[in-house]
Amino acid sequence: AGGESRAVNLLQNRNICPPEPVEPPKANLRDDLKKVNTSPDLFRCTLTTLPQNQNLLNKCKLPLGILLHPFKDLSHLPVITSSVIVRCRSCRTYINPFVTFIDSRRWKCNLCYRVNDLPEEFMYNPLTKSYGEPHKRPEVQNATIEFIAPSEYMLRPPQPAVYLFVLDVSHNAVESGYLHSFCRVLLDELERLPGDARTSIGLLTFDKVLHFYNLAEGLSQPQMLIVSDTEDVFLPSPDNLLVNLQESKELIQDLLHQLPEMFADNTETHSALGPALQVAHKLMTPTGGRVCVFQSCLPSLGPGALKPREDPNQRAGNDVQHLGPATDFYKRMALECAGQQIAVDMFFLPGQYTDIATLSGVAKYSGGCTFYFPGFHPARAPAQVTRFERDLRRYLTRKIGFEAVMRIRCTRGERRIRVHTMALPVSSNITEIYTGADQQAVICLLSRMAVDRSIMSSIRDAREAVINACIDCLAQYRSSVSGQQLGALMAPWSLRLFPMYTLALLKHPAFRLGTSTRLDDRVNTMNQLKALPLAYNIMALHPHMYAVHNLNDEGALTIRDQIIPQPPILSLSSERLSRDGAFLLDNGEGMYMFVGRAISPQFCTDVLGVESFAAIPDVMFELPELENADSERVRSFVGWLREQRPFFPPLQIIREDSRQRMVFLQHLVEDRSESMFSYYEFLQHIQKEACK
Ligand SMILES: [Zn+2]
Repeated sequence: AGGESRAVNLLQNRNICPPEPVEPPKANLRDDLKKVNTSPDLFRCTLTTLPQNQNLLNKCKLPLGILLHPFKDLSHLPVITSSVIVRCRSCRTYINPFVTFIDSRRWKCNLCYRVNDLPEEFMYNPLTKSYGEPHKRPEVQNATIEFIAPSEYMLRPPQPAVYLFVLDVSHNAVESGYLHSFCRVLLDELERLPGDARTSIGLLTFDKVLHFYNLAEGLSQPQMLIVSDTEDVFLPSPDNLLVNLQESKELIQDLLHQLPEMFADNTETHSALGPALQVAHKLMTPTGGRVCVFQSCLPSLGPGALKPREDPNQRAGNDVQHLGPATDFYKRMALECAGQQIAVDMFFLPGQYTDIATLSGVAKYSGGCTFYFPGFHPARAPAQVTRFERDLRRYLTRKIGFEAVMRIRCTRGERRIRVHTMALPVSSNITEIYTGADQQAVICLLSRMAVDRSIMSSIRDAREAVINACIDCLAQYRSSVSGQQLGALMAPWSLRLFPMYTLALLKHPAFRLGTSTRLDDRVNTMNQLKALPLAYNIMALHPHMYAVHNLNDEGALTIRDQIIPQPPILSLSSERLSRDGAFLLDNGEGMYMFVGRAISPQFCTDVLGVESFAAIPDVMFELPELENADSERVRSFVGWLREQRPFFPPLQIIREDSRQRMVFLQHLVEDRSESMFSYYEFLQHIQKEACK
């Protein structure tokens, strides 16, 4: 049986957060099916036992939905090259581990129950190289699988990889210093861009005019071509703006070496992003591919120009305006791009309000992604620079799919299809539905619904809806399962963290009110909640905190001869902090180390490399590499946490008396804040409402 059916009295169980990461529930299936089911890293359902009908679903007051991370990098992925891809003749479902074989020639579809014939080819098992036993084929042994597709899955031959880099070089952009970082990283990674001998590349820079670069093979140096009519853009040359990477490699390298200096003294403050996107679209239309845009200010010229909409005095207000786009220019641009198989990725490096709510539309509707590095500056924000360079490196070298449709993608010139299949049991018993609930999937889905609601209606409405979801669910559980115990707030074991996560969501920068929050920061966190895989979504809402001043080898892991301490996860309350301690908080995107006033001088010298607490600098972003056991323990722990994710989380060290301390303390969601309940008060509020 999957899951525990016991109930928890929340008001009496104050230490509800477990010391280890929360495990996703396993669907209550037969062992043989459980073994083959899709990994929860790829596919999660809010209810791992499905209600038999809509009435029962309505009754349990939990949202039903699926969260997926379909193209996650996998360590084990069976890839099948097959001339036949077996699919149900009625519903087009791919043959999978949950079908039934009537006999050795026929299978019954598990989605529409139609009986299908097996093609002769399926009798041969390419892995075991033997005939017969179709149930041993890899397609029916693996819930996640990738096919190399035959030609009927393509509308045209697979396209080569095409990259166009579009760079803001207006005064603010150049001042931020990002061009140096960008050019250095691209030069380093040029050889590692995914693609083949056909890979093409182009560069476009812009301020109030557009600069193209002729990179034709045989030129002695790149030629800059300027288009200054931003109202009616055109391509200054029919070819050589997108060139073959191998053939023009030296010219491209030349250009990347020159770019930072070329614009070093640029005083032009205007930024014509809209026209730059229009020409990018023209340039990429014949092939499709990826457009990577680097933008550091509000576009001010030509189509798509924007006005500052944020009122800085309203950052702590009781509701928030301008969460939606100011114009549909960027959305329309994105849809046109998507129609030509062009994805637009946005790298924002803003020094001030840049209207992310409007500009991120161009990535959102073209299948692109968004990166955000506020206040990017090598001297003032070195952590952003590190993060930018690491993220850009990964972005440039990770696998990508071109011309992808839903589950269809193509890599390295092959057409591929990745299929995930998940099986879940069905029940008519409400206790079983609650027992199978996946609290992390539930809160993740609710947070995405809350983003939509904030934009369509208001943050206030969204907050209220989330609180009501929690109250309604616990009230229903109380009346239909746990019995009406006086003064108790009961939750099923599976949902014991639901109220905690709900409170964390209300305090998250996306939805908090009454605390100063810059509009672009807020919109960026909303975009992230919509786009991040579930595990990072949960970390963003409810970070992991550890004491790191007394790490030891008890329970430590040993990986490649390195000992990695495993301190317990602490609940997010200042009661867990101590003046003589150091605490590491990991919210997925970044890490913060909070150092108490009475920290031992030994920790200061051995781990931080300074004489005393008072000597810890105001701005400190890395741990020095010192040769002693304590330093090695802390660094190996931080390094191990970083290895768990594909992007790089910077570390910031914060003294207890620093002005930066709120950056850390705002994550302690169990504490009372100026405008918001403590966890205990929140439980009391829920109890009052749920037991009415
Ligand atoms: Zn079917």
